[in-house]
Amino acid sequence: GSTIGILGGGQLGRMLAMSAAQLGYRCHVYAPEKDSVAAEVSAAFTCGPYGDTEKLQRFAAACDVITYEFENVPVGPMSLLGDTPLRAPVRALEIAQDRLAEKRFVAHQGGAPAPFKAVASEAEFNAAIEEIGTPGILKTRRDGYDGKGQWRIMSPKDSEDLVLPDTRLIYEGFVNFTAEFSVILVRGMDGEIRFWDSAHNEHKAGILSRSTVPAGDAINAQVPAARALAAKVAEALGYIGVLTLEFFATDSGPVFNEMAPRVHNSGHWTIEGARTSQFENHIRAICGLPLGLTDLIVPSARMDNLIGDEAREWLALLADPANHLHLYGKDEIRDGRKMGHVTRLLTDGST
Ligand code: ATP
Ligand code: MG
Ligand code: MG
Repeated sequence: GSTIGILGGGQLGRMLAMSAAQLGYRCHVYAPEKDSVAAEVSAAFTCGPYGDTEKLQRFAAACDVITYEFENVPVGPMSLLGDTPLRAPVRALEIAQDRLAEKRFVAHQGGAPAPFKAVASEAEFNAAIEEIGTPGILKTRRDGYDGKGQWRIMSPKDSEDLVLPDTRLIYEGFVNFTAEFSVILVRGMDGEIRFWDSAHNEHKAGILSRSTVPAGDAINAQVPAARALAAKVAEALGYIGVLTLEFFATDSGPVFNEMAPRVHNSGHWTIEGARTSQFENHIRAICGLPLGLTDLIVPSARMDNLIGDEAREWLALLADPANHLHLYGKDEIRDGRKMGHVTRLLTDGST
């Protein structure tokens, strides 16, 4: 059997490895953290920093294809993987890990992000507020996730009070949205693209809390335009694998928020709710296999994240036969930490 290398050791890697195993592949995880929940379900594990050239090259030599479950893997070392292909391509990684590059790239493909401006100094911050106005959000260009590294600027006064962090930033206008949704697609080695139904995504404190499909009329009306953009982005990148774009549904159409060059939390419902899950189709795509159908197989599905203390309720959740419970095997519960999720397949009348 072939070996799939996974860069990153979290729950997305874990669920990818579980799908890979179903198709007869073995996975080899490379991650800096010792207690990787992806490594626990994989055949091999190399624990090391992404910048350890020797370790990384030995890992690459042991794999037939390499993928990543974490978009903040440094791009530099990715040129050291030798003959082992990296899928999705490194260009996708490079763009998705910098909010400025990401917004410019997607705008160039015809997308409409919120107004934005790079900020690297007090003067540039003031200029950005002058130009874009308030309310707005100041974000670190790199390394942010789950709403970390963001400051909401409700008025110019907020900006005066803020001590700018010493890192490159981006200021963007606050989008007055009706709802949030995501487009998740898979692109195969032959260029074929398939989309899953778009979910309506609800956040709590900047963290995804619930995804529901179908998303409802207000979102569904904007899905075709959002899909067309996502397909253009995937094609421009020569993308292979699962790609996610997040959008705000607004009165003037879909506003692009950010992209993730990987499987996505808002697609976890596809494990039970779709003909083929996002995890299986990612494995199929990077291994050059035919893609599976993406259809929703029930009238409706809903995924709730178990964040921090919410995971303590797992036994009660398991007792409800309508719940599909997933726990990620993380030993320590921490505030804001994604511990697991629950999917419910809804038939008419159930909740
Ligand atoms: P993720 O965990 O999805 O990677 P992230 O930390 O990269 O999140 P964003 O997706 O940029 O952060 O923002 C998190 C949430 O904050 C969004 O889903 C949205 O609810 C809100 N948000 C972000 N940017 C804006 C904006 N310009 N206008 C309005 N709301 C916003
Ligand atoms: Mg993000
Ligand atoms: Mg996001």
